[in-house]
Amino acid sequence: MSEERASTNPYRLLPKVDALVAASTGTDLPSAVLTRLAQSVLDRLRSQIASGERSPEDFEAFARDGGVARALEDAIALERGSGLVRVINATGVVLNTGLGRAPVHPEAAEHMAEVARGYCVLEVDRFSGKRNRRDDRTSELLTRVVGGEAAIAVNNCAAAVLLALQTFAGGRSCILSRGELVEIGGSFRMPSVMERAGVELVEVGTTNRTRAADYSSAIDDHTGLLLKVHTSNYRVVGFTEEVSVAELAALGRERGLPVVYDLGSGLVDPDGAVPLDFLDDERTVAASLADGADAVLFSGDKLFGGPQAGFIVGRRAAIDAMRQNPLYRALRLDKVALAGIETTLELMLSGRGNELPARALLCARPADLKVRAERLAEQIDALASMEARVVPGRSQPGSGSAPHVFIDTFCLDVARDGWSAERLSRELRHGEPPVFARISEDRVLLDVRTLLPGDDEDLVRALTALDRQER
Ligand SMILES: *Cc1c(COP(=O)(O)O)cnc(C)c1O
Repeated sequence: MSEERASTNPYRLLPKVDALVAASTGTDLPSAVLTRLAQSVLDRLRSQIASGERSPEDFEAFARDGGVARALEDAIALERGSGLVRVINATGVVLNTGLGRAPVHPEAAEHMAEVARGYCVLEVDRFSGKRNRRDDRTSELLTRVVGGEAAIAVNNCAAAVLLALQTFAGGRSCILSRGELVEIGGSFRMPSVMERAGVELVEVGTTNRTRAADYSSAIDDHTGLLLKVHTSNYRVVGFTEEVSVAELAALGRERGLPVVYDLGSGLVDPDGAVPLDFLDDERTVAASLADGADAVLFSGDKLFGGPQAGFIVGRRAAIDAMRQNPLYRALRLDKVALAGIETTLELMLSGRGNELPARALLCARPADLKVRAERLAEQIDALASMEARVVPGRSQPGSGSAPHVFIDTFCLDVARDGWSAERLSRELRHGEPPVFARISEDRVLLDVRTLLPGDDEDLVRALTALDRQER
């Protein structure tokens, strides 16, 4: 009895770092990484014993059952599976910011990989040998697709907003409707951004109603810019009134002030592509330019369907002024993003806009999705511990694009014996490949709309692995 007690000094059951490492499966990891992981596993167990979180008896059972080695295996799996890992998006949110927004077209991805691997003509014209600007081609293609006289591309739409504000209203003021004082995800709040850009914000109108006269009477010598912001991620409904781009542009012309429209999502309807008219009151970039805005700002990775970027399209004088702002240099794009954008635009111009993945997903017909869902349900339902049936559901564009729009879809309602919906959805995220589902009324739903070509097989593979996993 007394001998047994002596043997339960829990710390004695902790192996030495080297012994733990030697017994692990992580031999493909650099030994320094493996040693660091083993060290941190042992440190964590030591502090769990010290704090009483694990009693000596618990720990003994854990250690004799191989728990320490398993803890290292978990740490190795976490190390391997961390970072930018590809996932299957079964959430039904097409432009899912958490999952990287728009997937680019395979040809755009190929072009991006090619310029990343080697050299490219980023700032030199290969025919004349002279210096040119890195976004000359993008700018040319953009104006061909959406109109406008000139364009520039920056890091994202938030950068475009910053550049426009600072260029036209730095040290001056900018007039904006109280109904459009938006916060975009990630606490990008219009008033705070203006403050940091050295722009005085002049709010006009009320939350629900703003008229052209409100802007007009707020203009003074200090005014540098009239700004309109698309309320992408919310709607003011009921007794409302807002000033259109056309009205604001007319006012700007009359008073000699630039008018900028932050359109956010930037709906583009290229020739030959199915128009995304179910997006309801989402305005196109082309229409906003035609309405007379001096510059329209929009994102590259929302409805446009390309890599992360912010586009500014409009009148040449306005674009040139922004290009000459020294801030532009800090906000410009790298060769990889520019390559992806060029290819995306070329696809639009050659009548292949429908092929852009974000667009294809948004336009997929419910009847086709149903067939796909049924095929998947059959395979998943055949797994011993899984149950799957096809249910109708509703997908969303996401990324603050048309938050009130829901698109009919079909989902797999999946359950696994003995697991809660929470547990199944967690295991799916931890699986290989990771799958992101949505939970609704305690059911795990896999929305077929956001599956990319080729995802189906991987989805079945991920579920098969969970089926085999012990409870
Ligand atoms: C999404 C959005 C932005 C920010 O775009 P990013 O490309 O994410 O920086 C800015 N303004 C509006 C109106 C938006 O919807």
